[in-house]
Parts: sequence; C-alpha cells; structure tokens
Amino acid sequence: MKRIAKRGIFLWLICAAFIGGLVFLTVSLAVNSDKWVMKYYNTHVYSDGELVGAGTVYDRNGVVLAETKNGERQYSENKKVRLSTLHVIGDPKGFISTGVQSNYQAELTGYKLLYGVYNIKKYGKGNDMKLTIDSEICNVAYDALNGRKGTVGVMNYKTGEIICAVSSPSYDVNNIPSDINTSSKYEGAYINRLFSGMYTPGSTFKLVTAASAIENIADINEREWTCNKIYKVPSGGKIECNGNHGKQNFEEALANSCNVAFAQIAIELGEERLSQTVNELGLTKSVSIGKIKSSVGEFDIKDKSDEDIGWAGIGQFTTMLSPIALLRMTGAIANGGTAVNPYIVTSFATQAGEALNLDLNMQGEQLFEKTTADKLKSMMRNNVKSNYGDYNYKGLSLCAKSGTAQIDNIASHDTAWFIGFCDDEKIPYCFVVIIEHGGFGSSNAGPVANKVLQALVD
Ligand SMILES: [Zn+2]
Repeated sequence: MKRIAKRGIFLWLICAAFIGGLVFLTVSLAVNSDKWVMKYYNTHVYSDGELVGAGTVYDRNGVVLAETKNGERQYSENKKVRLSTLHVIGDPKGFISTGVQSNYQAELTGYKLLYGVYNIKKYGKGNDMKLTIDSEICNVAYDALNGRKGTVGVMNYKTGEIICAVSSPSYDVNNIPSDINTSSKYEGAYINRLFSGMYTPGSTFKLVTAASAIENIADINEREWTCNKIYKVPSGGKIECNGNHGKQNFEEALANSCNVAFAQIAIELGEERLSQTVNELGLTKSVSIGKIKSSVGEFDIKDKSDEDIGWAGIGQFTTMLSPIALLRMTGAIANGGTAVNPYIVTSFATQAGEALNLDLNMQGEQLFEKTTADKLKSMMRNNVKSNYGDYNYKGLSLCAKSGTAQIDNIASHDTAWFIGFCDDEKIPYCFVVIIEHGGFGSSNAGPVANKVLQALVD
C-alpha cells in the first residue's frame, strides 16, 4: 500500500509538472511568438539578411519611402529623400535601431499570432505602413543642416505627429560609403540623433530653471538681478556670463540668457526643487515614440556645491538631455502645459486594404500648470521680439529659446541649439534644432528652424 501511495504521489507530481510546463509554453508562445516566428520565418522575411517581406512605407502625403519590388527591398528613388529619411525608416541591415522597419517588423511583415506570416504567403509581402513625417520638409531640414552634424525635429504639439525627424550625418543606403565605419565624416551615422542623441542643453535649460522658479519662488516676477559679467558664489567659485547685462527683471534675464541671474535662481531653488522640476518635466525618462524608445536624460546635482548647482541651472555641468524630451517639453509649453505623446507611425493596412488597429495612446500628460506654461510662453515670445528678431521669423508668431552649449573651451566646438514653437492654432508646430560644433545658438540654429517652419507654412 505504501509503495502504491508513493507511486500515486509521484504520478501526480509528474502530471503537475506536465501541466505547469504546458501553461509556461502557452504563455511564452503568446508573449514571445512575434520574436520566435520572426526568427523562424527569417527566410520568408529576409533575403541575404535584407528585409524583403515587408510592405510599403509611405510618408504622410503618400510618397513611397521604402518598398519591396521583385524580391528586393528598395528605398526612395530620390537620393535626397533616402538621406533625409534614413534614420526614420532604418537601414536594410537593421544597424539603425530606431528605424520603423526594425521596430515595427512584425506589423510591417504582417505577422499575426494564429495566422503566422499568412500575408507574406498570400501576397508576397506584409502590411503597408503610413508615417506622420513629410519627406519634403525632411529634405528642407537636411539641406538647411548643410552637412553639419546635428538634428532637426518638428512635431505637431496638438496631436503628437512628428513631421520632421532628420539626423545628420546620413548616408545613402543604395550606395553605402566604404569608409562609413572609419571616417569621422560619418561619426554616429547609424544614430538617430533626435531620439538617441544625448546633448549638453546649454541655455535651453534656462526654461527648466525658469519653470521651477515660477512654481517655487512666489515673487519671482518682482525680482531683479544685476549682472556684472561675473557672479562670485558666496560659498565659493564663480559663474561667468556671456554678457554684462546690468539690472534685469525675470523676463529680461531670460531674453538676455543671463548666466549670472539664472545661476542665482538655481542656487536659490536648490538641489531638491530643481531636481523635482527636471523629473516632473520628464527629462530624465525615456520618451516613447510609439514602439521606439528615446535615450534617457541625465541630471544629477545631489550633494553638489552651490557653484555646481549654478552651472547646472544654466544647462552646463554634467547634464545631458535627449532632444526629443526637450521637444516634448517645449510642445507642452505651447499646449497650455499638456505634453502630447509623439508618434511617427499613423496606420497599417493589409495588402487587401484592411486597416489594422494601432492602439495609439492619445492621452497627454500635464507637465506644467497652465499658468506656468502661459508665463513661459510669453517669455519665449519676448525672447524673439526683443532678442532674436521677429523679422527673422516672419509670420510664425515664434516663441523660442536658444542655447550655446560649451563642450570644451573652444567656441567653434559649441553645440548650437534653438527650440520653440509657433503660437498659432493654424501652424501648431514645436521644433528642436541642434548643430554640433555649430557655434552660437540663435545665429546658427535659428535660421535652420526658420527655413523648415517657412516650408511648413507654405
Ligand atoms: Zn548676464
């Protein structure tokens, strides 16, 4: 009897293990099937390591950006379009990790759990994909960068549609340069600088310090600061200004981009409040662009000296931010404090014309109080009117902040920044322009923003 009972228990254990294994397999299949099948059907989807089973990729106006023809993946016939949309589309080998072809591989090849790669078998290719980007605007941005390394991003701040996402250097997928991995000309050519780049924000960060001040220093609008070029920090060290601005109020200090004023504001705010604002604005988190994830920003002033906090408050020190995170924040200022979720893929359709549901998350996130956003907006409008020149940005109702981020002590190595938006319901666009080794922000990155926005208005 004893033995039988033991055997009985043993059988039960085997049964339990078997059922457990089945449950595990079923769950794993449901969770990982995309990956497994993509690997298993590699030969249907890839040929010579190239994505051939995928459907056609269109821009917002129906321009073909990538398609499969005669069993080969082909890119736009227009070389400039190939260059300006490379980092959005991705390359055939998948080196560019942020490309839609690799991030939406399952949708693009038409794989569905249960049906497998049914579409590929029936039609020879998967689903078509429509993007939010405008390839003509991307061309304008690529030309405006004129060979300089950097990025141009434009987003509709009401909807989250990314209209332009250009990264430079680029290269022609139809004619890959032999020195792409060795020449400094192609440094970071596989990186989409808008999503994966990390930059010292320079004076664009003064918007963050200003936001924290508006929310934490009750009488900030009545304050005045005197700039004599150098601010000696009482607890040691000094902060140097790019100008000798004399007496200024809060709005004038931002328009002058005065380091002396903003370093003092940052020191007054202190580690806790400034860090809290940075986190609340989503600058240290990854931004999701649909399935594509941005790099994560770095901001760390814990236990740092007043001098360090002063430098951090003017966008120097060790801070590194992702351009798309700043673009999203800028869009929130334009949009009464609410940040919309950026996205780049609008829809998919099967070869039979059936639309697939993408489950776009259109729920925004409130980054600023409405009063804070509106105050920042009026200050950014004043920057353009009193400093950058409204006549340089005709018809755009431009609100902006420039930045000239120091990398070493050589001015020509500075990163030029220009971020902002059009305060106009008819042209609800926010933008970020970054030029590496670009020199002074407003005079170098500003004209690039203007060219792209004027093309959008046309
Ligand atoms: Zn100053």
